[in-house]
Amino acid sequence: MTLTNQDAATLDRADPLARFRDRFVMGAEPLAYLDGNSLGRLPKATAARLRDVIDHEWGGRLIRGWEEKWLDLPTVVGDRLGAVVLGAGAGQTVIADSTSVNLYKLIHAAIGLRPGRTEIVIDDTNFPTDRYLVESIAAARTRTVRRIRPAFVESVTAELLETALGPDTAVVVLSQVDYRSGTLLDLAAITAQVHAAGAVVVWDLCHSVGVVPIELDAAGVDFAVGCTYKYLNAGPGAPAFMYVAERHLADVTQPITGWWSAEDMFAMATEYAPATSIRKMLSGTANVLGIVAVDEGIKLIAEAGIAAIRAKSLALTDFQIALIDQCGPVSHESVVTPRNHVRRGGHVTVRTPKARDITARLMAHGIIPDFRNPDMIRLGLSPLTTSFGEVFAAYTAANALGLGDL
Ligand SMILES: *Cc1c(COP(=O)(O)O)cnc(C)c1O
Repeated sequence: MTLTNQDAATLDRADPLARFRDRFVMGAEPLAYLDGNSLGRLPKATAARLRDVIDHEWGGRLIRGWEEKWLDLPTVVGDRLGAVVLGAGAGQTVIADSTSVNLYKLIHAAIGLRPGRTEIVIDDTNFPTDRYLVESIAAARTRTVRRIRPAFVESVTAELLETALGPDTAVVVLSQVDYRSGTLLDLAAITAQVHAAGAVVVWDLCHSVGVVPIELDAAGVDFAVGCTYKYLNAGPGAPAFMYVAERHLADVTQPITGWWSAEDMFAMATEYAPATSIRKMLSGTANVLGIVAVDEGIKLIAEAGIAAIRAKSLALTDFQIALIDQCGPVSHESVVTPRNHVRRGGHVTVRTPKARDITARLMAHGIIPDFRNPDMIRLGLSPLTTSFGEVFAAYTAANALGLGDL
């Protein structure tokens, strides 16, 4: 059965989340935006809220804004994110800094919980920032990096991880969804496996937060981090989040002990005493405009519901994969993202030697995918903003350009 534009229209009409597209800034161009997993679209409410905060809070209240509203934003919005998206009870999540900086803090904190152990485990398919940070932190703290080398699409399996875990393992750093292949890991099972070895885990949720249901408390996760400008639509450079399980809060220390992490930041004390709450993970002055944008992104997710978002994400990726298959056997084989729903995150990746050239030609025709070195095209389908019609439009354009048989 060949899929047509009619099928896309039928799917759009039946889509309970279709109305959310109106909540975002949508122009006539691009024709298809398939990069919402790198930078989400701009919610109209975010633009309005930022204008309001700029005019009235910053413009009007000036320094008084801190006491009146802003000082608690990292924890207030952190708690909202925890409740809506992370399955995290209050008091364990803050919004601050970037994913990279937060990884730095959390990996240090995690090492500190296992002082007698010498190894940090990370896989070669993990995102560069995670791997580079693990290397430099290991060097600084005289730990050894144990690199595991998963088969590309298979990602980290229980069997492979087991070969790396042992009495020396202090920390394991993993991404829940592989940023390239889109492979989804079983967060709860792997967390239990790491704990069985006596180690702690730091999860990078950048490619799962806001698109995949996450239950950090229920899974017993130790630490988690992720960005807010992808499926949370908080805008370029919006601050990231950090989760520290409540049971660890009393014991963790972190390396960027700025004044915002102090027990009483306005005491300006001579000696440093860390906060006892999750605020101990903060470092410096909060990015107010960024956190406000995160807050608006969370509101949209809360309104749509993460279960409905996941259902649409699977339907969109199924549709995308079926369209690629429809292009022929070569195209079928080029899809590297798992076809099994249980193992699939929110994007679809195609592997072809001509990926760079194809991406450039699609971009020139108003289709925005994402090129990943050296031979991958990522198609990021963001459930609140991507329509089935948009996915079909990209397929039509690709066919017209003769990209059918990749
Ligand atoms: C996007 C992404 C990051 C980005 O980190 P920044 O500090 O925001 O640049 C980190 N890790 C993963 C897995 C990502 O997908």
